[in-house]
Amino acid sequence: MSETPIVYVTREIPEVGLERLRERYEVVVWDEKLPPEKSHIETRLAELDAEGLVCLLSDDIDADVLAASPDLEAVCTFSVGYDHIDLAAAAERGIAVGHTPGVLTETTADLAWALLMTCARRTVEGHDYVEAGEWGTWGPRLLTGPDVHGATLGVVGLGNIGTAVARRAAGFEMDVLYTARSRKPEREGELAEFGVDASYVERDDLLAESDFVSLHVPLTAETAGLIGEDELRRMPDEAVLVNTSRGEVVDTDALDSALDEGWITRAGLDVTDPEPLPADHPIMRHAPERLVVTPHVGSASIGTRNRMAEMIAENLTAGIDGEPLPNSALRDAGLE
Ligand code: NAP
Repeated sequence: MSETPIVYVTREIPEVGLERLRERYEVVVWDEKLPPEKSHIETRLAELDAEGLVCLLSDDIDADVLAASPDLEAVCTFSVGYDHIDLAAAAERGIAVGHTPGVLTETTADLAWALLMTCARRTVEGHDYVEAGEWGTWGPRLLTGPDVHGATLGVVGLGNIGTAVARRAAGFEMDVLYTARSRKPEREGELAEFGVDASYVERDDLLAESDFVSLHVPLTAETAGLIGEDELRRMPDEAVLVNTSRGEVVDTDALDSALDEGWITRAGLDVTDPEPLPADHPIMRHAPERLVVTPHVGSASIGTRNRMAEMIAENLTAGIDGEPLPNSALRDAGLE
């Protein structure tokens, strides 16, 4: 083992985070555009006797990876979601796991709204139309879509991001419905301060009554496939579905059928299943008239990405020093 602890980083994170890490560690970065194979991460951790691992949500950090370096003390993911890390295996091995909650809440809520607005007002189609030279005259029927103001917003998962999305509805004078596993009186109170009267309803009622449904649940065994054929058929034909949570929360084949057969009008996805979504995936034939896809950029503001990089360094340092992590995924998942 080298005297300076070694940290392996599976992608180039913002420089501010790497600088912080380099102050204390020997930092080895995978600097390719595409992620390293899982086997490569395992090999590098073992070769380097790494004490720290910085990973992304696209890395599969399973029990084998966690066992690759006997000296591994801390794994920190550049994301709030940690469904790509085997937390139970980490807890068993005494490896600290950090994530970046809170900091990307508002930025991701902004993106959910960007997709909602894009789907409603068909801005991508509009751009393509102009670019294709089709803009011959002003058209009374050209690219019409549903009003956002005064409509009903349904938020599935009223956690940090769901609440931030609901808060923004105040400016559009929308009715807000939400669902979660339990009612959230504190969140309701928080929203009431912004003039948003959020009503807790059962999921089926939310789907049936919302013009816009925005998904904000974590990916768990319970939420995988949460929005499938039954749920999509329950939504009004004019409804718009926005997913900035995790791709697997929506059944892609069912969504494909929904867009084909007009069970809903449009979908805006920042996360997909599979992810990345190949350009020739069957569902892409709907784009952009019925489907708008962004490449998992929910947290992609410069300020937020820099702060996430700093949090990674703070979490990793605490983990390697054997101190409590400022943002522990194990704690947040109830495993600590
Ligand atoms: P959070 O604060 O933990 O909120 C999650 C919400 O989901 C809670 O209200 C929870 O309420 C609800 N929930 C959990 N399981 C449920 C179920 N089975 N049915 C219905 N509701 C359920 O999480 P967050 O910070 O808002 O983030 C949510 C997710 O967004 C993350 O896990 C991540 O996957 C994703 N995300 C994506 C991006 C992006 O770039 N697109 C960025 C950040 C985060 P209960 O406890 O009552 O169930």
